[in-house]
Amino acid sequence: MARTTKFYRIGEPLKLEEVDIPHINDNEVLLKVRAASMCYSDIHVITGAIPVRGPVTLGHEIAGDIVEIGASVKNVKKGDRAIVHFVTPCSDCYFCLSGKSNICMNINSTPMYGFSVDGGYADYIKADSARIINLPPTIPYDFGASLGCAGITAIHAVNSIGRVTLGDIVAVYGTGGVGMYVLQLAKLSGADITIAIGRTEEKLQLAQQKFGADGTINITKERLHEGIKRISTGKGVDVMFDFVVNRESVENSIRVLKNSGKLILVGVVNDQVIITPKRITLKEVSVVGSSVGSKNELQLLVDLAEKRKLLGVTSVRHRLDQVNEALRALKEGKIIGRGYIDPLMQ
Ligand SMILES: [Zn+2]
Ligand SMILES: [Zn+2]
Repeated sequence: MARTTKFYRIGEPLKLEEVDIPHINDNEVLLKVRAASMCYSDIHVITGAIPVRGPVTLGHEIAGDIVEIGASVKNVKKGDRAIVHFVTPCSDCYFCLSGKSNICMNINSTPMYGFSVDGGYADYIKADSARIINLPPTIPYDFGASLGCAGITAIHAVNSIGRVTLGDIVAVYGTGGVGMYVLQLAKLSGADITIAIGRTEEKLQLAQQKFGADGTINITKERLHEGIKRISTGKGVDVMFDFVVNRESVENSIRVLKNSGKLILVGVVNDQVIITPKRITLKEVSVVGSSVGSKNELQLLVDLAEKRKLLGVTSVRHRLDQVNEALRALKEGKIIGRGYIDPLMQ
């Protein structure tokens, strides 16, 4: 027997249950979960903003040990440490064939671990071996887990969509785990100045002291355009990453872009925003979306982490039976960095 936690219905806490250890198919592997880090999308599932059909185990940032492999699995072996790429691109649609598998046309009808099929808030998870990447022994499980969504979302936004380059002035609106990865990856891409924008002094300090932000703006104390002017010595921003995506963040972000600057929307939000077209037209700025990332990008992150060019953003460790308390703390903004479930924690 093994433990899992199930999402049943909108608004209800996850339910801890005893189940059989999952049986794997020939193409699958069984992972003993060692860390499942917590993404704000889980809150969106529980509140109904992201529609998911229960019962299902949430948790899409997953690392563990491979304890069993199916008969046709060739790419990994029993005993390997591994992480999961939680989406399953079809590999055959126009976008997959154009190297944009993260926006695969069939992404909502193929398995999505932690959303449409069981994820990592459990003792065990089974997954298609094609979605598995080896995790080198030098990378802790919790760090590896967080690369699965926070990491790939950041690297795709910085590298493929933002195309951050030498000398850029980059700003990150929102100081959660993804923002902390964006700050580091922007520096690795050659950004000259990186700026963290948020409301919580502790998170802003962490962004500066640990993750390389050159300046911070606490928008409860300073207006965005004044802060940007101060830190960029009046130049403005080349690439702004917005993880908040509300009326205030979008409107104000467009105003602080340089001519030809880019605003990358990363937060998954339904709210309406107001855009003043002339601010886009006259400055030739772009407003563009960025959605998760590809398996290649996940592998690149693992390589960067192995070479110690990237620092992990996980912080608080929780027991599996504390999953609801942990999600509540995440919802209330109390988690600095990224919390994670460790099923082996007593
Ligand atoms: Zn996520
Ligand atoms: Zn596809």
